[in-house]
Amino acid sequence: MAKARIPKKRQKVIAKEHLKAVFTLAKEKRSDKNLTNKLIKLARKIAMKVRMRLPLNYKRQYCKHCYSYQTPGTNQRVRIQNKKVVLKCQECNKFTRIPITPKRKQTKTKKKGSKNKKPDNRRKSKSSSKRQRKN
Ligand SMILES: [Zn+2]
Repeated sequence: MAKARIPKKRQKVIAKEHLKAVFTLAKEKRSDKNLTNKLIKLARKIAMKVRMRLPLNYKRQYCKHCYSYQTPGTNQRVRIQNKKVVLKCQECNKFTRIPITPKRKQTKTKKKGSKNKKPDNRRKSKSSSKRQRKN
């Protein structure tokens, strides 16, 4: 009887609150490397426990190779190269490349305007619908 009594949706809401608290604490104590690295491990554990992806804004705050907390200017170098943001971790000297995408995703948020384009269909159906239009 070890099943969780809290529904999974509620679990994720709670986890998000915890993550927020953890990352705000990490931001405050960013000078203490040991503590911030522990906090990031904790945050990852929280997310994994409820099988949730870490939100992007949190993901950008640590190095995905060594899980060290990153603060631009001190232990992170930020450059733009070939339409990518290149983040270099000064702890492990590895790179994280984030492509700069055009603002295509904005159509998803505008549900009313893009009704004709059928935004609800995911990638698989998109290719098929394109073929139909050509015919
Ligand atoms: Zn690193």
